[in-house]
Amino acid sequence: MGRSSAQETWEISLGELQVQVSKQNYRTWLEKTVGLSYEGSQFIVGVPNTFVAEYLEKKLHSLIEKTLIGVTNSNVKVVFQVASCNHNSPRSDSAGGDAIAAEQKGPPMFNSKYTFSSFIVGNGNQLAHAAALETVENPGRTYNPLFIYGGVGLGKTHLLHAVGLLAQSKHINALYVSAERFTNEFITAIHRHKAEEFHNKYRTVDMLLIDDIQFISGKAQTEESFFHTFNELHNANRQITITSDLPPKSLPVLQNRLRSRFEGGLIAAIEPPDFATRLAILRAKAEQQGVQIPQDTLEFIAQRAEGSIRELEGLLNRVIAYAHLVRASVSPELAARAIADISSDETTLSLIIEAVASSFHMTPSDLRTRKRDKQTALARQVAMYLGRQKTNCSLAQIGNELGGRDHSTVIHACEKITGQIEASPSLQRKLLDIGAVMHSKQGAGNQPHLHS
Ligand code: ADP
Ligand code: MG
Repeated sequence: MGRSSAQETWEISLGELQVQVSKQNYRTWLEKTVGLSYEGSQFIVGVPNTFVAEYLEKKLHSLIEKTLIGVTNSNVKVVFQVASCNHNSPRSDSAGGDAIAAEQKGPPMFNSKYTFSSFIVGNGNQLAHAAALETVENPGRTYNPLFIYGGVGLGKTHLLHAVGLLAQSKHINALYVSAERFTNEFITAIHRHKAEEFHNKYRTVDMLLIDDIQFISGKAQTEESFFHTFNELHNANRQITITSDLPPKSLPVLQNRLRSRFEGGLIAAIEPPDFATRLAILRAKAEQQGVQIPQDTLEFIAQRAEGSIRELEGLLNRVIAYAHLVRASVSPELAARAIADISSDETTLSLIIEAVASSFHMTPSDLRTRKRDKQTALARQVAMYLGRQKTNCSLAQIGNELGGRDHSTVIHACEKITGQIEASPSLQRKLLDIGAVMHSKQGAGNQPHLHS
């Protein structure tokens, strides 16, 4: 597999990783990574520096590998390699042109996990699902266009890929494109005087699947181009299926003629899943991963995530990963801990402050306020040091929680404690005690109450 498909695979994986780690972790460690190559069973991820490589290797290796295995459906091994960030820019520069060329060679990549059989049907998505299926059974005839809309993480992209995969298996020439990519390709094509090539690519398919159309609304030239593509395909009875986060009538700046085209077919809403559907989805996802989860735990998780299915999946993965990490069997209590913990650095920081305070025979608020006696200052420095070690909270955040200090105070504290540890057995013992206290609190599962 070449570079561009390694990058595409990696982008899909990043999408999944994004819901499995905290926002801050994602930003710090994953955001600036790229998919460099995928040869044999080795997947090389490019990272900006050795520090990031080390962290990913230590903390996220198995999660990343598992995600890649899921996305590629094969047994890949991940390797982190330092690559200069410039790697990115020539690519994005030429993304449009290369993409046109690349996709003419082979079919676009569909996520093999996003099939009809892995799509759970419930009240909220029944119509969209049935209509999507119909577009493959009777392309261009029953519902054209099919316009599917719904909130984030409710399965729109999944459905479009399912349509594409099924169409492919029936030798229907289906083309999937996000509206964002369509726009970028269009702009690049114009700049390079390759408009003709661009138009041909989109006007010669049997089926056009265009994701997140809201992205082009208001971009007049792109809308114009899409309008013509739409008409040509529609006149030739080619199937067009569109997704959006809003119904056509609410797309803010969409030109009226395009809006009325969209309204000329079937409009199907996807609503958030009800409890029973959420449960069914969780059961299916757990089964897919080969993990046994008791009914009460699935119910617990289903109650926690009322919004999107992506969030639901994220919680499930988190619980599974956590159970693995602490080598415990899955129960509602463990799920509660997993959901409260892992991503929540703030919770961990609170826990550190509690544990440090108790080991110094103080109250957490002694550390949180500006109290300045020597003993409090030392305790606060220990808490800063541990906050730095055990969380991904920023220096500013740690300082802020501990007496409203600035980041340089935190750096100073870390240096000082680091310097003292070796020479001071009593400090070593204290740190061990604090670790034990934190451990027992985490073990007792009372983190969720810490903030109350
Ligand atoms: P959207 O495009 O609407 O933002 P996605 O299609 O990306 O949402 O779905 C988010 C995640 O939820 C994906 O991993 C997808 O597989 C999963 N998902 C969504 N709907 C369903 C469903 N009905 N059954 C199983 N998984 C689903
Ligand atoms: Mg989507």
